[in-house]
Amino acid sequence: MTKTVTLANGTALPALGMGTWNMGGTPGPKLKQEIESLRYGIEAGLKVVDTAEMYGDGLSECLVGEATYIMRQDVFLVSKVLPSNASAAGVAEACRKSLRRLGTTYLDLYLLHWRGATPLAETVEAFRKLKQEGLIRNWGVSNFDVDDVLELEACTNPGECAVNQILYSLEHRGVEYDLLDANRFRNIVTMAYSPIGQGGALLHNPTLQAVAARHKTATGPATPAQIALAWVLRQRNMLAIPKASSLEHLKQNIAAQDIVLTEADLTELDAAFPPPSKKTSLEMI
Ligand code: NDP
Repeated sequence: MTKTVTLANGTALPALGMGTWNMGGTPGPKLKQEIESLRYGIEAGLKVVDTAEMYGDGLSECLVGEATYIMRQDVFLVSKVLPSNASAAGVAEACRKSLRRLGTTYLDLYLLHWRGATPLAETVEAFRKLKQEGLIRNWGVSNFDVDDVLELEACTNPGECAVNQILYSLEHRGVEYDLLDANRFRNIVTMAYSPIGQGGALLHNPTLQAVAARHKTATGPATPAQIALAWVLRQRNMLAIPKASSLEHLKQNIAAQDIVLTEADLTELDAAFPPPSKKTSLEMI
């Protein structure tokens, strides 16, 4: 079952994409395996591939370029500009450098990685220019809390900002209090990063393990990572970009799309990972 999300301009995208942070930095067999994983994912319909100029100082973009140049039309390529490059001239230059590393003539989506000192209106103007020049098709932001979204709204037209990419997982539910709705009301798709807790402590949580034990998937008995991912994907307006350099993990993530969590599962998960009861500042990694 492939869930989709729809951008404000009507573009429908599969709700499961792929992250690439910490990929591309090790030449040799690891690099080969990462390319194989990305290509497998794209062939399986995971169209959205997320990278950033920051990742490995451009090495992740080089890897993504290598993996996707033979299938560019099947990919929705996302990259990000650092806040230190968010001025008018900085954005123009950073985007061209990203395009060169990615070996493509356009980005499907270009995000401001997080807020810095450059006035938002200047960065927005720079994004508009890139769009006019055909170098990007959409733009958006990352790590924007509600106050940032409101400030952005004041200097943009409705529907201009396509995506807000934020930290969201069972361990980081603060955004359920207000930000998820703030995005949705403005037709901004929420893109969840680190949805499976970066493969860390989350996956050893006993409740998550107990819920996993009750489900089966096409790749075998469900794993905690698959439950964590299915839990994020069940949200409306939500696109998740787990990173899996291993093919086995990638196949599990693809299979997680078919998991339907029951009310009992959700209640247990709520008890172990309580939803927010008050506003907290947006967390970021
Ligand atoms: P994730 O939550 O996606 O976790 C990635 C880790 O989980 C890797 O170690 C991976 O291992 C492992 N993993 C993947 N699938 C499974 C599975 N099925 N079972 C067990 N382990 C699994 O963390 P990330 O921080 O990488 O977040 C995803 C992406 O989000 C990033 O790659 C990046 O593109 C983006 N991001 C954006 C940020 C922003 O500020 N905008 C900040 C952080 C991330 P392996 O690789 O060995 O398969």
